[in-house]
Amino acid sequence: MALVRARYVAGPKAVIVLLVIAVALCLGTLIYVQHATNLIVSRDMQTAVSLSEIAGQFDHEDGNLYRLLVDEAANGRTSDSSIRLAAIQQRIANISADLSAQRDMLAPKERANASRIIAELHKYSEAVTVVSSMLEINFTTTVAMLRPFRENADSVLVEIKRIAAAGIKDASGHAEAAAWRTRLLVAVVTGAVLIVAGLSYVWLTLAAERGRQLSEEIRRRSIAEKEALQLARTDSLTGLVNRRVFTAEMEAAIAAASDAGDQLSVVLIDLDGFKGVNDTYGHAAGDVVLTSVSERLRFVFGPNSLIARLGGDEFAALLLAGEHDNENPLSLPRRASQALHQSLIWRNNTIEIGASIGASVYPIHGKRPDELLHAADIAMYEAKRAREGGVCLFSPRMEEDRFEQRRLEEELSVGIANGEVVPYYQPIIRFIDNQLCGFEVLARWQHPRRGLLGPEAFLRVAEKSGQITDMTKAILRQACADALLMPEHLRIAINISPIQLEEPQIAEMLIAIIRGAGIAPNRVEIEITEDAVMDDVVTAERVLQTLRASGISIALDDFGTGYSSLSNLRRLRFDKIKIDQSFVRSLTTSIESEKLVDAIIGLALSFDMKITAEGVEDEAAAGLLARKGCTQGQGWLFGKPACINETLSLIEPVPRTGTDQSVANFFSICV
Ligand code: C2E
Ligand code: CA
Ligand code: CA
Repeated sequence: MALVRARYVAGPKAVIVLLVIAVALCLGTLIYVQHATNLIVSRDMQTAVSLSEIAGQFDHEDGNLYRLLVDEAANGRTSDSSIRLAAIQQRIANISADLSAQRDMLAPKERANASRIIAELHKYSEAVTVVSSMLEINFTTTVAMLRPFRENADSVLVEIKRIAAAGIKDASGHAEAAAWRTRLLVAVVTGAVLIVAGLSYVWLTLAAERGRQLSEEIRRRSIAEKEALQLARTDSLTGLVNRRVFTAEMEAAIAAASDAGDQLSVVLIDLDGFKGVNDTYGHAAGDVVLTSVSERLRFVFGPNSLIARLGGDEFAALLLAGEHDNENPLSLPRRASQALHQSLIWRNNTIEIGASIGASVYPIHGKRPDELLHAADIAMYEAKRAREGGVCLFSPRMEEDRFEQRRLEEELSVGIANGEVVPYYQPIIRFIDNQLCGFEVLARWQHPRRGLLGPEAFLRVAEKSGQITDMTKAILRQACADALLMPEHLRIAINISPIQLEEPQIAEMLIAIIRGAGIAPNRVEIEITEDAVMDDVVTAERVLQTLRASGISIALDDFGTGYSSLSNLRRLRFDKIKIDQSFVRSLTTSIESEKLVDAIIGLALSFDMKITAEGVEDEAAAGLLARKGCTQGQGWLFGKPACINETLSLIEPVPRTGTDQSVANFFSICV
C-alpha cells in the first residue's frame, strides 16, 4: 500500500522536474542564441564601421594629397612636400593594412573586392612614391601622371564605401535573420513546452486515474483479505471460530493461565439427533439448528469464553479463568446441556435435539491443547455411551475404558472374520396351541479370552465402529444356514440395529443373503426397534417396503418403550408387535403394566398384527397373556437363547411331515 502510494506521488514530482528542465533548457538555448547573434551582428557592425572609417581616412588622405599637389602648383615646391608625401604614403599603407585586417571579416564576395582595393591602394601608394620622386623634375607632368590614380582613388573610395554599406547591410540582415531565428526558436520552444505540459497533464491525469484505480483495487483487496481471514478464522454459518483458531487461542489461554496459576475448562459438545433433523427436514432446518445451538452456547457460556464449531455438529468451548473459578467444572456444561435440550420450532415443526457433553480441566487433565481436547473428547464419548444427552467430566478411568473399547473393536473385527460371533436361538411359542413357531436370533460372541459374551458387551462397539453391517451379515448367513437344518415351518427373527436403517441398500443386502442361502424369505422376520423406525419414518418406510415386498415380515421390537404414533404404526404396516419385556415381567404385579399390555394387544389386533410378548418368565404371565389374546410368547419360561447344536437337539428328531413333535421339549417347560 505504502509502496503504491509512493509511486502514485512520484508522478507529479517527476513532471514538475521535467517541466523545469524543459523551461531551463529553452531559456538557456534562447540566451545562448541571443548571445551568439549579438556577437555576429556586433562583429558585422564593427566591420562596417571600420570600413566607413577606412573610407573616411582614405578620402581624407586623398584630399591631403590633392591639396598638397594644388599647393605645390600654386606656391612652387616647398621643402616639406616630401615629408608630407611620406606621411600620406604611410597613412595609405596604414589604411591598406587596416583593410587587410578587416578583409577576413567580410563575406567571400566582398573579400575579393577588398583584395582588389588593397591592390589599388598599393598602386596608389606606388603612384605617390613616383609623385614624390618626380615632383622636382616636372610638376605638371607628375600631376598629369597622377591623374589616373586620382580617378582610381575615387573608385577605391566608392568601393570601400560600398563594402562598408554592404557590411552594414549584412549586419542588419544578420540581425534580422537572428531576430527571425529567435522568434522561431521562441515559437518552437513555447510549442515544445506546451506539448510537454499538455502531455504531462494527460500523463498526470492518467496516473491519477490509475492511482485511484489502484487504491480502489487495494481497498477491495484488503476488504477481501479481511473477509478471507475472517472466513479462515470463523465458520460462516454460526460465526464461531474454527478448530485451528480455537487450538491457537487455547495455547495462548494456557500460557496466561499457567502464569496466573488459573484453571481452564475445555468443553466438547456433540449434538444428538442432528443427522435425523437434516434427513427429515432438510439442510435448511439443520442450519437453523446449528445457528440456534451456537446462540444458546454463547448465552450460557457468556463473553468470557471462546466457542468454536469444530465441524459438523461438534462444538467446543474454552471457559476462561474467572468465569467458573468457584463453580463445579460441570455446572456450565450442564446448563448448556439443558439449554440445548430445549426444543425449537422450525416452520411449524417442533425439532428436538440434544447434546452429549464432555469436559476437561487445565492443568489437571492435561497441559497442552491436544491433551485437553483429547480428555474432553473421551469424557464426551463416555457421556454419549452412558446416556445420550449426558454430561461428563474426564477421569483417567475413562481413558482406560476407551483403550479397552479400542481393543474390543479390533478384537471384534477379528472375531467377526473368524466366525466367533454366532447366532443363538431363543424359541418363540404360539399361545393358541403352545407350538414352537420359530426363534429369535440373538448374537453371541465366543471371545477367545473372555468366554461367551452377550450383545451388551459388543453391540454398541459394533455399531460405533461401523462393524454392525459385517456382524449382521455374518449372523444372518449363519442363521439362514442353520434354518435349513430346522423344520420349514419354523421362522427365524433377525435383529437389525437402528443405525442400519440409514445404510443405503440395507434391505437389498438382507434379501440377497437370504435368497443366496436358499431359504424362503417368508421364513425370515426382521426385528427393528420402535425408536429406530420413528426417528426417520420416511427411510424406514422405504426399507420396510422393500423387505416386505420380498416376502420378509417385519416385527416392531421393544414396543411400549418408544414413542410410536398411531398414524405411523398404520403407515409402516408391521406384521408383528413385540411387547417389551419390562411390561411383561411386571404384568402380574402392576395394574399399569397390565392395562398397557391390554392396550397394546387391543391396538395390534385392531391393526391385524401378531403380538409376541417378550420376557415371559413364569406360567402365570404366560397364562394371562394367552387369555388376553396375545398370540405368541418368548422368554425363559420357554427357553433361553441357545447355540445351534443345543437348539437342534431340543427340536430333534425333526419330523419332516405331520405334527411337529419337536416342540414337546419346549412344552415340557410350559404350563
Ligand atoms: P431384544 O431384541 O429385546 O432381545 C431380547 C433380549 O431379552 C435378549 O437379550 C434375550 O436374551 C432377553 N430375554 C429373552 N427372554 C428373557 C426373559 O425371560 N427374561 C430376561 N431377563 N431376558 C430375556 P440379549 O440376547 O442379551 O439381547 C439383548 C439385545 O441385543 C436384544 O434385545 C437386541 O436388541 C440386541 N441384539 C441381540 N442380537 C442382536 C443382533 O444380532 N443384531 C442386533 N442388531 N441386535 C441384537
Ligand atoms: Ca429383538
Ligand atoms: Ca425386544
